[in-house]
Amino acid sequence: MPAVIAENDVSVWSDETGAVYHYPKRYSSILLPGAQVIYYKGKLTDKAFADQRLSTQPHYFGVARIGKVYSDPKSSKGDLFALIEDFQPFEWAILAKEGDSYLEPISPSKISNYWRSGVREISQHTFDDILSRAKIKSLQISESLEQEDAYDFKSRVEGSPIAYYGVRYERDPKLRTQAIAIHGLSCKACGFDFEKAYGSYAKGYIHVHHTMPISEFDGPMPVNPETDLVTLCANCHSVVHRKRSSTLSLDELKGMIRGLWLFKERS
Ligand SMILES: [Zn+2]
Ligand SMILES: [Zn+2]
Repeated sequence: MPAVIAENDVSVWSDETGAVYHYPKRYSSILLPGAQVIYYKGKLTDKAFADQRLSTQPHYFGVARIGKVYSDPKSSKGDLFALIEDFQPFEWAILAKEGDSYLEPISPSKISNYWRSGVREISQHTFDDILSRAKIKSLQISESLEQEDAYDFKSRVEGSPIAYYGVRYERDPKLRTQAIAIHGLSCKACGFDFEKAYGSYAKGYIHVHHTMPISEFDGPMPVNPETDLVTLCANCHSVVHRKRSSTLSLDELKGMIRGLWLFKERS
């Protein structure tokens, strides 16, 4: 069954529209992989967000599909997060209320707290009805990925389109958000945590590395943020890319940190 997922202007989670959606365990039977979802925002409460929304009123603003679902390791209550696939924003807001009636039919028994649910199952008919009022905004592929972060490994891999795609995936904001949701914010090789080391100024900072071996990788292909991406600190990421001829694997890097690399080279 399709569902409506509500997004807050200020999220307590690392929710990101079209990339990752966090939710309490009670919605786990609704948000299954493959479920079609419509994004919803309630009434504007903080004017600071007015220009980031299509409307100040409760409205729908996009359609997507639930991808892989993970349990959130940081949650003690069993919260989950889902990767969001194929997000398509609407050109204009579809208001939740038309005249006196709501686009989501509300059964009388639920009327008192219906809108408090962040995830609401809807019928295929309601889903189709909302979509039929919407125009899907055509997305332009942005080249802004180029200037994402202050690190640049491109010079080391110049002239290699294969490596270029690797770097591109490391900078794709959606893949970054998904990789960080799955792998966390500490370095998967040495455990370094920017926030712990530098305080809140560095909160949320980490590099995302694309692990696909270059020899097996030719051209754009779907990237699995769980298996193809990993979070690394800036030092470890630099070492991984130190040599143009080969990118180190995570295990090789961990071995070097433990000193096993030297042993292996000598033996
Ligand atoms: Zn590290
Ligand atoms: Zn990398």
